[in-house]
Amino acid sequence: MADCSKIRKFKDPADYVKRFVIREEIDKYLPGGRHFIDEGKIARLISETDGKPADPVKVREIIAKSESTCETLTPEETAVLMQVTDPALFEEMRAAADRIKKKVYDNRIVVFAPLYMSNLCVNGCRYCGFREGNAAQKRRVLTMDELGEELDVLAGRIGHKRLIAVYGEHPSTSTEYIAETIEKCYSHAVPAPRSGRKNAIRRVNVNAAPLPVEDLRVLRSVGIGTFQVFQETYNRKLYEQMHPSWSVKGDYDWRTTCFHRCLEAGVDDVGLGVLYGLCDWRFELLATVMHARDLERWFNIGPHTLSFPRLEPASGTKVPEESPWLIDDATFARILVIARLSVPYTGMIVTARESAASRNHVLDHGMTQLDCSSNIAIKGYSDFANEAHQEKERQQFMLGDNRSLDEMVRYLASRDTITSFCTAGYRCGRTGGCIMDALKTGREGKFCKINAVLTFREWLDDFASDETRKIGDVLIEKELAGIKEWLPKFYPTVMKQYEATCRGERDLFF
Ligand code: SF4
Repeated sequence: MADCSKIRKFKDPADYVKRFVIREEIDKYLPGGRHFIDEGKIARLISETDGKPADPVKVREIIAKSESTCETLTPEETAVLMQVTDPALFEEMRAAADRIKKKVYDNRIVVFAPLYMSNLCVNGCRYCGFREGNAAQKRRVLTMDELGEELDVLAGRIGHKRLIAVYGEHPSTSTEYIAETIEKCYSHAVPAPRSGRKNAIRRVNVNAAPLPVEDLRVLRSVGIGTFQVFQETYNRKLYEQMHPSWSVKGDYDWRTTCFHRCLEAGVDDVGLGVLYGLCDWRFELLATVMHARDLERWFNIGPHTLSFPRLEPASGTKVPEESPWLIDDATFARILVIARLSVPYTGMIVTARESAASRNHVLDHGMTQLDCSSNIAIKGYSDFANEAHQEKERQQFMLGDNRSLDEMVRYLASRDTITSFCTAGYRCGRTGGCIMDALKTGREGKFCKINAVLTFREWLDDFASDETRKIGDVLIEKELAGIKEWLPKFYPTVMKQYEATCRGERDLFF
């Protein structure tokens, strides 16, 4: 059980709003009051490059640097990549992004499901259906029994092993609650439909509000995966317009320093993201690079993942329709490619907010993770027999890709891409600085390839439809042949684990 004795407790939402932020935990990461998001420099880089054609020689040098070093680019270099509009030059960038993704992560896509724990929130973000005061939302916080029902579907019926658990910011979803729900996710094992073997969630990533160091230590003690906090926008002025100053989230500095606190607390897989469509995408991407570089400067650890949510229609707000900065699919694809080249080692998540066509299109643009069989209504998995069912009043936004996990696995296999259910990395201590090195040198991709095969075998035997199993079997044969060729001495050890998995042993990994 988590030891929550040291964390501050708030019952009254008004008290929480007034006293949650700890000023010293901000100031220590903004020495001299200077913020690491240098808005003046971003504005200058945008105005210097705006409308000017890219120099192909410079662009190719930057691509080569990204590919050979896997180090984060400078904002100046990212700004050069943003100038590219010529389709042939962009295609060179896309192909390089795909090669880098394969060097770092191989031909795998990691899958997960979102699990919304609550929609109570003390904040008033103008674009969000969950905001305080939106009477159109039906509010609830999952009880532990209800969470069990959700897990029955996620781990028992669908076969997920990795979640992103999402929490509103509210005293009813305190750090104690987050810790308790993480522990419940790990301990709730359910029989699989095809084999009857027990399956449980093995990695719980968390999307929640910024927390103080002491609270983050509690989450670390219960085995949190990645801690994900979306900045929404790095543009301070716009941020203040979107997030009222009376709210906790109205504090820009508390939010922008949250990953520094994570890394200080030993939660060393951190997930960054902005809400594309609120502001000029070039501003957001340059700021993301600055954020990544500042984390590297302090801790030698950059973002474990970047997410790319686009502003979507939500209940009771017109902001998503009226924003002047909405981005089209072609720009979205550009953003992904530039992000992959700019932060080459990072995981890149494209969620089911996107349409199926959009996600299919960007599969070879550097992305590494996607969700499927997703339902983002609170208690949506157990309430609706059909996972594709959506209700605007019960969710933060509407989803665009309703494909099931089985369909997605099949689709990925048809593109020679293996679905990975591997969660070994953090359980073997391959997180933070340790995984950064492994990723940059391509070592992690090799471990992951083997673990992807083992967990894919598990999933095919426990959950797949006959049709998916057939195409999955062919892909596994091909992957094993590849491993044999590339690691002939280690191959017999791999096969031992693989055969044990075929006999029904579970959760074997390297
Ligand atoms: S975006 Fe997050 S913090 Fe803001 S109102 Fe919605 S749930 Fe609350």
